[in-house]
Amino acid sequence: MKIKFIGAAEGVTGSKHMIMTNSGKQFLLDCGLYQGMGKETDEMNRSLGVNPTEIEAVLLSHAHIDHSGNLPLLVKQGFKGKIYCTTATFDVCKILLMDSAHIHEGDVSFINKHRRKKGLPLIKPLYTIHDTEKCLKQFKPLNFNTEFYLNDELSFNFSENGHIIGSSAINITSHETEKKIKLSFTGDIGRYTDPILKSPSVFAKADYIICESTYGNRIHNTIEDSESEILKIVKNTCLDKKGKLIIPAFSLGRTQEILFLLNKLYNKKLLPEIKIFVDSPLSAKATQVVNKHHECFNDELKLYLKNDEDPFGFPNLKYIQDTSESIALNKIDDPCIIISASGMCDAGRVKHHLRNTISDSKNTVLITGYCAPKTLGAQLTNGKKRVHIFGDFFDVKATIEIMHSLSAHADYLEMIRYLSCQDKEKVKKIFLVHGEMEAKIAFREKLISEGYHNVIIPLKGESSVLS
Ligand SMILES: [Zn+2]
Repeated sequence: MKIKFIGAAEGVTGSKHMIMTNSGKQFLLDCGLYQGMGKETDEMNRSLGVNPTEIEAVLLSHAHIDHSGNLPLLVKQGFKGKIYCTTATFDVCKILLMDSAHIHEGDVSFINKHRRKKGLPLIKPLYTIHDTEKCLKQFKPLNFNTEFYLNDELSFNFSENGHIIGSSAINITSHETEKKIKLSFTGDIGRYTDPILKSPSVFAKADYIICESTYGNRIHNTIEDSESEILKIVKNTCLDKKGKLIIPAFSLGRTQEILFLLNKLYNKKLLPEIKIFVDSPLSAKATQVVNKHHECFNDELKLYLKNDEDPFGFPNLKYIQDTSESIALNKIDDPCIIISASGMCDAGRVKHHLRNTISDSKNTVLITGYCAPKTLGAQLTNGKKRVHIFGDFFDVKATIEIMHSLSAHADYLEMIRYLSCQDKEKVKKIFLVHGEMEAKIAFREKLISEGYHNVIIPLKGESSVLS
């Protein structure tokens, strides 16, 4: 068996790795979109780096677009095989991939309007809603921890990794030679203190591991701090300064975590009486999907449900669907909280809210997750004082707060804990992917000091024979 690193090898987004068996059969681990790579992003996404007609099947770790978002293009270009993932991942993909198709179609029709005026040739979207509907028909959801045989050569199972609802590590066994070879792909590793999800679980002892490394150089605040941290920010912005609190948040995962934090504060009668809006139709749908998959909930949340059957809802909360309602939020003078996508502030309605609030010092923007370099979220995180939004420059006068404790990615101590179920002597190689170079270098040093040998940082396009 051989592995080739195609995406998320030099950077965080665009997760895609190819497995080739000795008989030449090809399988993909993930097929994600590059995000936030500036002008080159579109070009990078249009080139899949594989021949889709030669791929037998895709094993998908989770529904995040940087892992699943280029599956419709793969299908459009001739991939006919199955896409294996967990049941919850399939439910989330139904909404995230359709949303992605809407964005691509919308962006292109906007661009083509201008091109048409200038007499330039029109461009085509990366993929359409029709391509995505076709792609979703090729999904084959499977249960966690159940061995599935792809053919005589390979079998695999999904194990829980606590990153988002339905997310999994993929544990592959090669039966090609007498001595079985085990390869585990961690996917994105979650937290042991996730307020909603079960903790990452142990996985069978592997010979080779492809491990993410997003926070290979960071230790997060503990999750217990989040409630008091967010309450302090809400009070400071909405009570003391009478301003608006804008929370850019991923529709899936982060939005529900924030709602759960606010719900707990509400139940403790600590939440000030202010209006709270979730301004994203996608976030509303995502909350419904999360609420459907109680099998992924941790024991504490299951217990919480006995006293409050809707952990993501409370009286002051309103979901905004229509664009006109979203625009009307700009006119509200009263203090309020607006939770809106995207989390990296590079798309979606949150950009309009930032445009409207960022230059007023009474407001606060709360960044709650990882922002890829070059995104507006990363610029705000890095303290940039003037930012470009929809064609205009704005002075950043609002307070920028950053809460890392809500991260869906494990820090390096949690990743080391996740790997601790392994036999350090037996692991032949650990390949570090899905991280900026400095995080990978730091994490490699940590792993070596823990006793792992052969920790490799593969370059894009690099292959390795697993024997
Ligand atoms: Zn992810």
